[in-house]
Amino acid sequence: MPVPELGPGLARPGKIICVGRNYRDHAEEMDNPVPERPLLFQKPVSAVIGPGEPIRLPGESDEVEHEAEIGVVVGRRLSRADEEEARAAVAGVTCVNDVTARDLQRTESQWARAKGFDSFCPVGPRLHALRDPDAWRELEVRCRVNGEERQSGRAADMAFGLPAVLSYVSRAITLEPGDLVATGTPSGVGPLRPGDRVEVEVSGVGVLRNPVEERSGAGS
Ligand code: MG
Repeated sequence: MPVPELGPGLARPGKIICVGRNYRDHAEEMDNPVPERPLLFQKPVSAVIGPGEPIRLPGESDEVEHEAEIGVVVGRRLSRADEEEARAAVAGVTCVNDVTARDLQRTESQWARAKGFDSFCPVGPRLHALRDPDAWRELEVRCRVNGEERQSGRAADMAFGLPAVLSYVSRAITLEPGDLVATGTPSGVGPLRPGDRVEVEVSGVGVLRNPVEERSGAGS
């Protein structure tokens, strides 16, 4: 699979770790409690696409949704790190769209397929280095579909903040430079349809834009 162009400062990540239900309002809209510990899952790197590349809707799902997220790019190796170490290891942040086949997520206890279809992980358009290790608290994330705002959230409202998430992940999985951690989505997730234009914006980063297409080709 060719390496997509993600934008300045961004290389294809070695792995992608995601946090589910990290904003109270999104957990509530899904009728789920906020977990007592970060709820982790992974997206395959084969799902990564760059700015401008199409999100392709697979025939296996009738309910593909956007999830605008703040993506953290790891700058140095983290293994069983405390929050202080984790805070200092952030290379920067970017925009991530944790595209999800909601119908498959509901019916399959493992989310590998629902979260892992090719093109289900738009990333970019650049890496934004934080001004200081606590600046993540001021970040905001938004999603627009066809110019209409669907999601808006503040990192300060996360159940588990960036250092806590990175520290927690590193207690199970060693994080390497370039790895990407998607930190969860605020409320307002909703459907993507062919012809839509979806935008994820993270303050300081810019806007990640992707068109949405029906998947074409054999076995679509
Ligand atoms: Mg998500």
